[in-house]
Amino acid sequence: MPSTYITSLLIRAVTVASCHAARSSCVINRWLVNPGRISSRAAAVSLAALPIAVAFLVGTRSPPRTPPSVVCSAASFSLPFRPLALSLPKARPFYPLAANGKVGRALKPPLLPSFSSIARPKQSWPGVEGDAALDWSAAHARNAKAFQQPTRALRVQAEGPGSQRSDKMPEKKSNEEGGAFCGEAVIAEFEALTRDAAAVQRETLRRILSENAGTEYLRGRGLAGRTDAASFRACVPLATHADVEPYIARIADGDASAVLTAVPITSISLSSGTTQGKRKYLPFNQELVKSTMQIYRTSYAFRNRAFPVEDGKALQFIYGSRQFTTKGGLTATTATTNVYRSEEFMPTMRAIQSQVCSPDAVIFGPDFAQSLYCHLLCGLLFADEVRIVSATFAHSVVLAFQTFERVWEEICADIRAGALSPTRVTAPAVRKAVSALLAAPNPALADEVARRCAALSNWYGVIPALFPNARYVHGIMTGSMEHYIKKLRHYAGGLPLVAAEYGASEGWVGANVEPETPPESATFTVLPNIGYFEFIPLKASDGGAAAADTSFAEAEPVGLTEVTVGEHYEVVMTTFAGLYRYRLGDVVKVAGFYNSTPKLKFVCRRNLMLTINIDKNSEHDLQLAVDSAAKILAAEKLEVVDYSSHADVSRDPGHYVVFWELNADGNDDVLQSCCDELDRAFTDPGYVGSRKASAIGPLELRVLQRGTFQKVLRHYLSHGAPVSQFKSPRCVGRNNAGVLQILSGNVVKVFFSAAYD
Ligand code: AMP
Repeated sequence: MPSTYITSLLIRAVTVASCHAARSSCVINRWLVNPGRISSRAAAVSLAALPIAVAFLVGTRSPPRTPPSVVCSAASFSLPFRPLALSLPKARPFYPLAANGKVGRALKPPLLPSFSSIARPKQSWPGVEGDAALDWSAAHARNAKAFQQPTRALRVQAEGPGSQRSDKMPEKKSNEEGGAFCGEAVIAEFEALTRDAAAVQRETLRRILSENAGTEYLRGRGLAGRTDAASFRACVPLATHADVEPYIARIADGDASAVLTAVPITSISLSSGTTQGKRKYLPFNQELVKSTMQIYRTSYAFRNRAFPVEDGKALQFIYGSRQFTTKGGLTATTATTNVYRSEEFMPTMRAIQSQVCSPDAVIFGPDFAQSLYCHLLCGLLFADEVRIVSATFAHSVVLAFQTFERVWEEICADIRAGALSPTRVTAPAVRKAVSALLAAPNPALADEVARRCAALSNWYGVIPALFPNARYVHGIMTGSMEHYIKKLRHYAGGLPLVAAEYGASEGWVGANVEPETPPESATFTVLPNIGYFEFIPLKASDGGAAAADTSFAEAEPVGLTEVTVGEHYEVVMTTFAGLYRYRLGDVVKVAGFYNSTPKLKFVCRRNLMLTINIDKNSEHDLQLAVDSAAKILAAEKLEVVDYSSHADVSRDPGHYVVFWELNADGNDDVLQSCCDELDRAFTDPGYVGSRKASAIGPLELRVLQRGTFQKVLRHYLSHGAPVSQFKSPRCVGRNNAGVLQILSGNVVKVFFSAAYD
């Protein structure tokens, strides 16, 4: 279209000038090397943006589309055109120009007011003005000194005015772990991977099978060197954890032969999921570290496009788990701890501007409560540098700020005194590391924190109030974490909530590449090179919506690119860490496609009965708990006639409710003991940890009137269920309001566990 072409040339001319002035916009540079890919709509939008471009030329420099650290080489990519106007989202941060000509720290977008920006127009802490205001931590240089990584202010001081530019320049291999990060390069890689996901899947399967053809698990299955999907499906059966457990157990016990992988497994991950109260052992290797870094970088690249983050830190509420050595000498711990302990973790975190505020000693501290206190304290010491507030799971962020409500005055006292509370933090390594950061009394900071807390109403917007340069809150907010979104929004004020990735100890599945989507609607785009994926089509047998207490009819698995939008599936994965056609046990719904790879919406875990946050208890786990508590009843010649359960998340924290119908009236003391025993009998580490940290409330035992389960039976029959197939529902979800009403309406006694008091 000629008019479009002329418009394109016009905008190009303006943009050339603008870009020359800015010399740093990756997006503009890309367009300059590829001007032909302008659409008429893009041209129109760009035209509308002309005044803005001119304003940038006349007034300040154009803000970088990506932060200075993610400037890309123009020649290396050929992505679709993205005009300047489109690179200015609704709520862009404003990059002030410092007197020395450097682009300053991004100010909070005016369209995204936070409590603090209303209270304080200037995004800096008091007493720090001018150039120093660009880096509040200059006032806390002593804190930074204790940290190995110098702050930007210190670097600029030490290396001279030009240093900021040079330390941000990308290296050639910019996306290797630890190298400078180039978000657009990562996105270009992702685009290429997802364009022909079927071909990438074929190659991924070929690699996995050829690398591991000689393993005990694959040998003798008749593959005979074939690596195609049809042969793989014909020769290798679907497997559950129970099927692979004996192989993993041998590896853990020291069998160093090629059991599951050609390169021997040296670490074990412990899944938070349980089978019969035991944690699952899973193989962990360097390939999983690599795919973790890939997924971190991918999701960060997309997040950074939506919510640009200049250099800074992340207030991450993360906790390493204890590590032990298996009989065969392998280290065993959670998958996240395996990742945190990997060499690649810290450099990648630095590269993606997610360097943790707290020293390692806090992350790996022996006591959760002490680490949480110190995370909060370290976050405040680096308050102005915090760009991201995150945790693996959303409930950890909620728990952190619930704790802050209780301990903030103590934290302020520590900051004021420049010394750590002797009672709150006792672990020597944690004390030493955090004391080094505290170093000297800082009454100004303590006063400011107190002033900001006092100005809050019911702690609404506490996160942006304390961390005025935070851009978003990040963590897993889907599935069982959805319950925490409301509280998170309260603490986050106007800050965006960004749902984190989807994966498991077994391996990663997908990244959230649409970070602006509200967490309730978040989807996960499968990365086709991190494993070979199949999907078992599921049909809810009652024809209704899939939920944790739904039973499904299954069909033959289909490939990654063969799934249908709107359908439900169970995820099956084949990984570089030795799992072949492994049933993950998660139900997902296909929400759409990104290029040719599916976007999955997490629905629920299959066969999972009770879950509040990171806890996972199956029907069998519930049965074991009931059996254990019923032993106390037996001494009184009482029996449990029938039972059910419910994860009550109507109040915070959520808690388990167990419904019991007994054959006769029980003594209150005996029933209280049963209640305590039920609570103790759930040995899933996620549950125990959450109970100890009060992230899950005391278990509630509700004793029912005799005949209640008969009423439940009648309810099902009245809805057409055949009596021959009737099973008492062992877990009643919120969506099963009819049954929940019957159970709750027939309660005669209620007990709350004192097991963790
Ligand atoms: P684990 O085995 O302890 O690593 O837990 C992995 C399980 O957590 C997955 O199989 C899912 O059921 C759940 N999970 C992980 N990531 C997400 C997510 N983004 N949304 C919902 N559930 C998730």
